[in-house]
Amino acid sequence: MTIEKIGIIGAGQMGNGISHVCALAGYEILLTDVSADALAKSLGIIEGNLNRQLTKGTITDAEKADALARITLTNNLADLGQTDLVIEAATEREEIKAAIFDELLPHLKPETILTSNTSSISITRLASRTDRPEKFMGFHFMNPVPIMQLVELIRGIATDEPTFNACQEVVDRLGKTSAPAEDFPAFIVNRILMPMINEAIYTLYEGVGSVKSIDTSLKLGANHPMGPLELADFIGLDTCLAIMNVLHEGLADTKYRPCPLLTKYVEAGWLGRKTGRGFYDYRGETPVPTR
Ligand code: NAD
Repeated sequence: MTIEKIGIIGAGQMGNGISHVCALAGYEILLTDVSADALAKSLGIIEGNLNRQLTKGTITDAEKADALARITLTNNLADLGQTDLVIEAATEREEIKAAIFDELLPHLKPETILTSNTSSISITRLASRTDRPEKFMGFHFMNPVPIMQLVELIRGIATDEPTFNACQEVVDRLGKTSAPAEDFPAFIVNRILMPMINEAIYTLYEGVGSVKSIDTSLKLGANHPMGPLELADFIGLDTCLAIMNVLHEGLADTKYRPCPLLTKYVEAGWLGRKTGRGFYDYRGETPVPTR
């Protein structure tokens, strides 16, 4: 089937980014959120990010204007009923996602493909609650969406080939690259990345190195563009902990045990950049290590 109209649920960091790149690629977008405030701010945020591309010369004024004109905001989930593809990017809580699908399904065309941008929840389990498990899959963008090249395409156990191929075509039209993944905890990127970040936190916890020496080591010793602790602060320490818990519980292997120091930072509300403090303190002009 040809996808022209895309419904996006959740106008947070990810939903805004996904709307941005899909609108630039020519898709008609219907964006919704339960929060009137998030919805009201979304177009301004998307415009700000498009302006950044304009300044860099990667898009033109006309492309920016056309992209913005293709995005329609709605506070009514039922309006997404006529779209060809839905990408759910609401808060990472299974009961929230399940309730969204329950409310949306009676309005949805039978052929519409339903996807979730979840970082960790089982695609197969989410799909099993819907009327279309074969037309359900994971569509996992990376943050920040306009910059990151990869999209993980995750097959649930029931996902059929036409659904997978239709999503693959969308990724191609976005000019991004896909990595197909099976539906096991945290898929590919986070399955590999999070244990590395967790190990960096253990390295700090055990006193093997300081925040600065650990980040410098991986930047200059392994050629990583960001150190693992700097990256953890960027992702959000609560998100890192949630993903480690999914790996630990889902794979039942002690090698995925979240570092107690990560738990401690989350308990302190030191969640990284978004709260002003994590492994670095961002409240001054330049980030200062907190250990
Ligand atoms: P966010 O907190 O920035 O945004 C979530 C949005 O969902 C909020 O605006 C909230 O109001 C909205 N929402 C909550 N309940 C809703 C409902 N019932 N209906 C409609 N909207 C609702 O979160 P985010 O970082 O954008 O993450 C969204 C999804 O993307 C999550 O599943 C997350 O795991 C996934 N994801 C996040 C990242 C990341 O780095 N942040 C990367 C890849 C995937």
